[in-house]
Amino acid sequence: MQTDVIVVGAGPAGSTAARESAARGARVLLLDRARFPRDKPCGGGVTVRCARLLPFDLSPVVEQVVTGAHLRLRDGRHVTRDYPRALTYLTQRSRLDAFLVERACEAGVEFRDGQVVRRVTALGGGYAVEANGERHLARVVVGADGANGVVAGVLGFERPPQAAVALEGNWPCPQGVPEWLRGRVALQFGKIPGGYGWLFPKGDHVNLGVGGWQPIAGPTLRRSLDELCRAYQLDPAALVAVRGHHLPMQRPGARVAAGGAALVGDAAGLVDPLSGEGIYHAVASAAALAPAVDDYLAGRAGSLAGYELTLQRELLPELAASRALMEIFHAWPDPFTALFQRSDRLWGALCRVLTGEQSLDGIVRAASGPLAATLEPLAALSRCVNALRYGPR
Ligand SMILES: Cc1cc2nc3c(=O)[nH]c(=O)nc-3n(C[C@H](O)[C@H](O)[C@H](O)COP(=O)(O)OP(=O)(O)OC[C@H]3O[C@@H](n4cnc5c(N)ncnc54)[C@H](O)[C@@H]3O)c2cc1C
Repeated sequence: MQTDVIVVGAGPAGSTAARESAARGARVLLLDRARFPRDKPCGGGVTVRCARLLPFDLSPVVEQVVTGAHLRLRDGRHVTRDYPRALTYLTQRSRLDAFLVERACEAGVEFRDGQVVRRVTALGGGYAVEANGERHLARVVVGADGANGVVAGVLGFERPPQAAVALEGNWPCPQGVPEWLRGRVALQFGKIPGGYGWLFPKGDHVNLGVGGWQPIAGPTLRRSLDELCRAYQLDPAALVAVRGHHLPMQRPGARVAAGGAALVGDAAGLVDPLSGEGIYHAVASAAALAPAVDDYLAGRAGSLAGYELTLQRELLPELAASRALMEIFHAWPDPFTALFQRSDRLWGALCRVLTGEQSLDGIVRAASGPLAATLEPLAALSRCVNALRYGPR
């Protein structure tokens, strides 16, 4: 089959990349190895800033609208924080991803599931993509195949390090989730190196999970998940569908586009280092790619380099700020959680990041003023402190 764009992977990154290009008039083939609807280990938290990037309403797949959080600190104290507006929509990935693919198909995308892509080769001015013994040709290929994808590797891109790992399970609540969790998430800080624990209420279950630095937190995640259950008076044996997954985080400066090929979402390693949020960056990177694909197909650009420039301007500064804050937070968790507990301004600032009213790097710049230049050295020092405390990663 000959087409303009082949997108490999139909998660939020792939369906958005496909839909945005089709909406601009390109012929798009979207391939996924799984049969849809398919699930993925994920809290299913879609921040308001992410939902704002989508030109349609997510309500049909939203199970809880989050306007607050129960924050549990290392010493067991907890605090409840609320916000007057929606912060995050909680959904299930099987429902969200199928919904996003449906919107892509409505825009004219040809979607084929059950297609395992094994080879992608550059030929002439385009690419050949082989899936299930069939060969498809296109001028543009997009690697949206997630943390364990193949496109980055076969096209010679640096594979993003699997810096973090998370384990989650579902606690069934057939009568509905407990009252105290309705419209709020619960977050536990200070227990897991490089991460945190969460409880995300859905329609008929609560999703519980723990995540942290891969080599340090990874081997004990099952124990951490059990401890999280017990901290909230839940029986760990009651958890169902327990599974884990990596969270890839890009090395600063890594290439994500060359010629007519590009990586988006987890395949590009665009997960937020501090929060583990990845759906926003999947959708945002895919939306950033579409104009560059359009320019390339129309002959206005000789490559997809414009996509990298947009990422450098719009997404990477925030991920860099998040990486720095992540190191600092985990080096000195107690002062930060104490600040988090007391400071209305900090809570308000974080809420504005979730809603997209402010960016994390903008807040850091505004808060530190002339001290902004000290963030990177402080992060480097914190990384040393973390290495001494926890070992290399
Ligand atoms: C436990 C856990 C909880 C998380 N919770 C949240 C959260 O609450 N909110 C949030 O924003 N982020 C969360 N994340 C991160 C988020 O899940 C990812 O960042 C997000 O799924 C990235 O989307 P994507 O489209 O890039 O990749 P994916 O959603 O992983 O999609 C990749 C697709 O590619 C397909 N694929 C892979 N290989 C091939 C192949 N060879 N051929 C064809 N198809 C292929 C897969 O089948 C899959 O459908 C969480 C991550 C984990 C591990």
